[in-house]
Amino acid sequence: MSDIKLKNIDKAFGKTEVLHDVNMDVKDGEFVVFVGPSGCGKSTLLRVIAGLEKVTAGEIHIDNKLVNEVQPRERGIAMVFQSYALYPHMTVYKNMSFGLRLKKHNKQEIDQRVRHAAETLQLTKYLNRRPAELSGGQRQRVAIGRAIVRNPKVFLFDEPLSNLDAALRVQTRIEIAKLHKKLDTTIIYVTHDQVEAMTLADKIVVLHDGRVEQVGAPLELYNTPANLFVAGFIGSPK
Ligand code: ADP
Ligand code: MG
Repeated sequence: MSDIKLKNIDKAFGKTEVLHDVNMDVKDGEFVVFVGPSGCGKSTLLRVIAGLEKVTAGEIHIDNKLVNEVQPRERGIAMVFQSYALYPHMTVYKNMSFGLRLKKHNKQEIDQRVRHAAETLQLTKYLNRRPAELSGGQRQRVAIGRAIVRNPKVFLFDEPLSNLDAALRVQTRIEIAKLHKKLDTTIIYVTHDQVEAMTLADKIVVLHDGRVEQVGAPLELYNTPANLFVAGFIGSPK
């Protein structure tokens, strides 16, 4: 678990400014959802938090420590991407243990972590299969498993359900909510889907053109949207 503070974050790619003066607080154990239309900067903001992109200006603090210069691997963060990019030639077990094997954890420790994550995600039966022998939902769970075995303090999810069909999206969404309770961990979750945001979040951050429009609990945004953009996007009748 962990808390994260972003202070006056700007990010530009060359002359293209993508994030403008982003400020926010993510509390220990909170489920925070970044929501906003395609291209508004959600993935960039996640990548900045993960350390995969350097900020142009501003400060990122994790547990009250400035981490701007801290390498991604040292931030205690695991990211689950939209395209889950499993290794096709490796079994589920090998896919899930790959990162730990690189880090030279001992075999017994790796085995214990993989089996525990597999149990949490109901993947135990599939540990010897290859990705091609799994459904889309099972593959996405393997990608989540790969993150879990690292025991991260923070999980970042970037539109994890967008490659799944509608029924599976609902089911996986419920599983992610359960996972948050079970792991008792901080989650930042990106989506462009308002329903996902409303059902999953303790706190929603509405982004628009690289700026934070409003931060609040789902019902707060619904009942008292700060402006027309938020009202239109979250779907309240104002
Ligand atoms: P979202 O995830 O909300 O759809 P992104 O964070 O992916 O949005 O992108 C925000 C904006 O930043 C887009 O206009 C995108 O084209 C631009 N962008 C993202 N990554 C790069 C990059 N590496 N180089 C240049 N522009 C980028
Ligand atoms: Mg994105």
